[in-house]
Amino acid sequence: MTTQTEQIHDLVIVGSGPAGYTAAVYAARARLAPIVFAGSVTAGGALMNTTEVENFPGFPEGIQGPDLMENMAAQAEKFGADIRFEDVESLDLTSDIKTLTTSESGTIKARAVILTTGSAYRELGLPEEKTLSGRGVSWCATCDGFFFRDQEIAVVGGGDSAVEEATFLTRFASKVTLIHRRDELRASQIMTERALADPKIEMAWNSEIIAIHGTEKLTGLTLRDTTTGATRHLAVTGLFEAIGHLPRTELLHGQVDLDEEGYITVAHPTTQTNLPGVFAAGDVVDHTYRQAITAAGTGCSAALDAERYLATHH
Ligand code: FAD
Repeated sequence: MTTQTEQIHDLVIVGSGPAGYTAAVYAARARLAPIVFAGSVTAGGALMNTTEVENFPGFPEGIQGPDLMENMAAQAEKFGADIRFEDVESLDLTSDIKTLTTSESGTIKARAVILTTGSAYRELGLPEEKTLSGRGVSWCATCDGFFFRDQEIAVVGGGDSAVEEATFLTRFASKVTLIHRRDELRASQIMTERALADPKIEMAWNSEIIAIHGTEKLTGLTLRDTTTGATRHLAVTGLFEAIGHLPRTELLHGQVDLDEEGYITVAHPTTQTNLPGVFAAGDVVDHTYRQAITAAGTGCSAALDAERYLATHH
């Protein structure tokens, strides 16, 4: 393990999604030589789990999510960002000089920190969910869809992710049941229309999953009608969960202020947290938009906020 206790860096960025890498591009071009802790297994962030991104400006033909993230990383590195594929395991942000610890870099000191740790998938909370994870239960259609060729599967959720995943999974599955607690979807109109018109997608409206069945592999679900209370069995070999996100802020409890759902609170429209020199951007602060371009936009703001802070705190 190398420790760099003697050196105080200007800026450390935690996270490597669109927010972290955009912050890195701006900070590197401002000659702040940022260190980016990208994470060990999830580097590149949420877009590494998707295929075509059609709504990131500048790519009229669309771009594959992983390609977009590799381009962002290359752009940040070109200007001098030091990207390290390591997890920040602990940190102390409360003093003027912040400390962050990873298993490989040891303890790193910095005057300013930008937090862009994104958010993770929400779970249903049913006991069989964990044991059947990877045995039929999945949170990633892009990763696992191929395993369900010609099978009958289900997607649970009602927002953009659920509808996008259900539509994507029709490439593989013979039938996709989209299970939603309410009688209308929350997804954007264009995605909803596409899903409802798809002959392979069947809607299970007003339905919630109350049991997941199977020992070695998923065999089916018990659904309860949220209006009548009636239950029924749905035979499926795959269940894709798209029921929302949890901000990745476990490390930050007792450090920066979080709201009641665990998102970092910032002084909008800036990216300033309650701690001087600590900024936050992307999905870890965003209840509302959760898009690559909005994450990139606030990542840019965070770098500019950090730059101004550092100019007056040397
Ligand atoms: P994330 O992309 O989640 O990145 C967070 C980063 O933090 C990760 O790199 C992770 O490794 C790192 N991290 C977390 N904790 C630590 C730690 N302790 N140490 C080091 N690193 C850490 N948006 C669009 O605009 N268009 C789309 O087409 C689109 N499609 C999507 C499809 C899917 C399946 C999903 C899940 C999302 C999609 N989104 C899309 C949403 C978009 O991906 C997110 O809004 C965006 O990635 C958020 O960026 P972020 O930088 O805030 O966080």
